[in-house]
Amino acid sequence: MEKRTQYMEKRIEYLEEVNRFTLDALEMAASLGDFQTSINKLEDTSVILEETGSRIQGLIQFEAIAFFLVDEANHEFFLASTQPKNYRSYIQNEVDFLIDNGTFAWALREKRPVIISSKTYEKRLIIHVMATSSRIRGMFVGLLGEGDTDIPDISLSLLSIILFNSSNAVESFELYNMIREITKSLERKENYRMLFQAAPDGVEVLDARGNIVDCNRTHQTLVKHNYEEIIGRPATEFFSDNSKALFTKKFSVLIETGYVEGEVELICSDGSTLPVWRKEKAIYDENKGFVGAVIYNRDMSMHKQAEEERRNLEAQLHRAQKMEAIGALAGGVAHDLNNILSGLVSIPELLLMQIPEENPLRKSILTIQRSGEKAAAIVQDLLTLARRGVVVSDIVNLNHVTSNYLMSPEYERLKSFHYNVEFETHLEKELFNIVGSPVHLSQTVMNLISNAAEAMPDGGKILISTENRYVDRPITGYDDVKEGDYVVLSVSDTGVGISREDIERIFEPFYTKKVMGQSGTGLGMAVVWGTVKDHNGYIDIKSTEGKGTIIRVYFPATREELARKKTKRPPETYLGNGETILVVDDVEEQRDIASQILTHLNYSVTTVSSGEEAVEYMKNNSADLLVLDMIMDPGIDGLETYKRILELHPGQKAIIVSGFSETERVKEVQRLGGGAYVKKPYLSEKIGIAVRDELSGNAGRPEENK
Ligand code: ADP
Ligand code: MG
Repeated sequence: MEKRTQYMEKRIEYLEEVNRFTLDALEMAASLGDFQTSINKLEDTSVILEETGSRIQGLIQFEAIAFFLVDEANHEFFLASTQPKNYRSYIQNEVDFLIDNGTFAWALREKRPVIISSKTYEKRLIIHVMATSSRIRGMFVGLLGEGDTDIPDISLSLLSIILFNSSNAVESFELYNMIREITKSLERKENYRMLFQAAPDGVEVLDARGNIVDCNRTHQTLVKHNYEEIIGRPATEFFSDNSKALFTKKFSVLIETGYVEGEVELICSDGSTLPVWRKEKAIYDENKGFVGAVIYNRDMSMHKQAEEERRNLEAQLHRAQKMEAIGALAGGVAHDLNNILSGLVSIPELLLMQIPEENPLRKSILTIQRSGEKAAAIVQDLLTLARRGVVVSDIVNLNHVTSNYLMSPEYERLKSFHYNVEFETHLEKELFNIVGSPVHLSQTVMNLISNAAEAMPDGGKILISTENRYVDRPITGYDDVKEGDYVVLSVSDTGVGISREDIERIFEPFYTKKVMGQSGTGLGMAVVWGTVKDHNGYIDIKSTEGKGTIIRVYFPATREELARKKTKRPPETYLGNGETILVVDDVEEQRDIASQILTHLNYSVTTVSSGEEAVEYMKNNSADLLVLDMIMDPGIDGLETYKRILELHPGQKAIIVSGFSETERVKEVQRLGGGAYVKKPYLSEKIGIAVRDELSGNAGRPEENK
């Protein structure tokens, strides 16, 4: 295009040069003025032809004149102008005749005035080719009047000059016109360029090999590169590895089908990645050959962020729902399970009271008792998940919790299963205390360590450490962290690691990658999560797949000193004096346990198996104290029973025994005058003291027992 323009400009220059020369000659010879000074401003050729006509008329007296021009499109002559206008068909007629008889063609070659008679021989015509030095542009036709005389040669010569001049003017005009067209289309292109630059999407133009040949400013902003850094490089060089793998395949699809789209991660100059929705449209030449593509990249980061937020919320909701389900489940089984466990915890104690010190059976019974206590602790885990019954008010030292675990038979067993795992501990000497629940913390330590060991089937190293740490910056995964002193327990391993997706899920109850029921229950991390949450702590997990994992749990430190170890109260201090006690419990073993313990403590015990039965019994009897189970499906519960008995015996003393932690209903019983609340499973000391205190009237406002 540009070459052509240049050529035409040269040509115009040349033509104008010639024009000027001819004009000078004209001016000198015939003092005819220049009529083409402003050709570039003309709308069309009619002005040139008019001007030419009037000058020719000044030279020779014609009855009519006409100009035929060559149509650039089909190279045919057409009648462009006739003066006067009503001669149009007459002249057209004459010329058709001249064309037919060959005169016209002959005149074209002559390049000088040709004088011929009209069709009917009445008149004469002068026809003269209009040509520049290189091209024929048209034909001048002049009709001489009836009485015309001979025309002087000079006039005919000047006619040639004027027509040559006029032809040049017509050609100049046409060239100008073309340039004008080209300029216009260039302007249009500039407009397109503006649209290209202003597009809200990053636009790339690729050649057939996929190299970037052009891109707009939006694209430069997106990838934070300037134009020069982008142009010439393969488009895929700006892709993340994942996207590369995906989109190299798509290029052949693009060539074949003409269009592909998909999500791509672009790499920016600062190394950050930008998610974009990428639309690629192929460009083909007229032979359907693939010549390149136009690409639109739409920034998806905002969209992604919103999407991620939505997913997070969904995950949170999902987790909450799962926790809730677990809660319901745990709550449901805890009651029954606790009753069963009571047998394991309480009966051995009763047995131990009766078996002499030196009896070898004592050891086995002690083992049964300890197992029962552990099972009770697991039920507590379920309750932790249910976020109920959690007590976090003891002053605890994580070093003690940790070393207790490291001295436990469970730890020995873990080590024997994982003989190829090396254990190392670094406990900070002056570790702060924390406020919490030793059972749950111990469970947390145990779960973290056993998970670490299980993550290393081929052996490795576990490092267990504690430290005091002042936290003043965010912990991964938490938006706001309370600044202050924390005690941090870290367990690191050199195991298989956890993938990013799994990290999200490992805290879900029952989420396990291990064989369910065999090594995994999927409850471990859920307990850790619940515990940490209950203790107002934080969990930080850093993991590299194939390398290992470090899990840090943060607990707020306290300056309080450890509570002095509670001394056991000797049973003599809570013996009864034969007072009457009515035990209300729907489970037989529970009634037996309570009955045995209390009988042993010198009370007179009666048992009934439902609230309704208790009310019935109290109509004709009395009791110094009620031991009330709270939940007795399907009958009335402890609260209802107490209310009905209070109507019969105002001021009736009672204590509550339940597997559940304090609920509104327990508190209601206490508001009505019921005494202590004893959580199942219980040792004789606990229920003994509660009963004694209640009967002696020095119970005070009872707290949940610990
Ligand atoms: P379980 O141990 O019964 O599978 P957990 O809740 O304790 O259940 O753990 C859930 C899952 O979290 C495990 O199955 C395991 O895939 C993953 N996990 C936990 N700790 C680690 C660790 N230190 N290294 C690798 N994976 C772990
Ligand atoms: Mg586990």
